[in-house]
Amino acid sequence: MIRLQQVAKVYSLGKVLVRALDGVTLTIGQGEFVALVGPSGCGKTTLLNLMAGIDRPTSGEVWFEGERLDSLSDDRLTRLRRTKVGIVYQLFNLLPTLTARENVALPLLLDGLQGSEIEGRVARGLQRVGLTHRAEHWPHELSGGEQQRVAIARAIVAGPRVILADEPTGNLDSVAGEAILDLLEELHRDQGQTIILATHSQEAVRRAGRIVHLRDGKIEGLEGP
Ligand code: ADP
Ligand code: MG
Repeated sequence: MIRLQQVAKVYSLGKVLVRALDGVTLTIGQGEFVALVGPSGCGKTTLLNLMAGIDRPTSGEVWFEGERLDSLSDDRLTRLRRTKVGIVYQLFNLLPTLTARENVALPLLLDGLQGSEIEGRVARGLQRVGLTHRAEHWPHELSGGEQQRVAIARAIVAGPRVILADEPTGNLDSVAGEAILDLLEELHRDQGQTIILATHSQEAVRRAGRIVHLRDGKIEGLEGP
């Protein structure tokens, strides 16, 4: 479902070139649970951003369900991000001026859905993450684990083909972090959701079907089928 072919990403900082990714070739199938691991700065976030169409490679090809992302227009990429990809961040990235319910509704509003359709989907999303009772709360009234649950509801509300999660437990204590991993694992197991997770957590790695080890922008090794 996602295929990267000889992908490189080079950032220029003044005169210095940073090779964030350097010749990455990787195929991820529908329904996989993949962990991206490696030291800070090895290119995990860059790789997720390319898969999400948030960023474009300097060279190489990025394919998502048969479409070549690196040559899609910005409009097409934005639409793909809204409908086919759910993204979860380390710092939750909820909008502080919207309630939990409104945060979850946002991608549907942006996608032009109508009121009753939005309401139903948001209610199901919040229920899926066990936060129906927190729907009208502001983000600052929620614990970190609850905020991340809202972010996961927001990520799944449009029915994406894949969830990309960038160190989703990195800012949580171990109990809250495990609950988030349980939730991602359930989405994977019960709904066949494809999940790609950048992580430092051994607990997260243990749950993945396949582990991709990155170092200095290169794939250093693969574990699993
Ligand atoms: P990770 O998520 O594994 O910590 P990143 O993908 O964030 O790694 O970063 C990979 C490398 O690219 C790092 O050396 C980082 O400093 C660099 N980098 C990432 N984003 C940018 C950017 N926007 N501008 C310049 N360098 C960047
Ligand atoms: Mg990162």
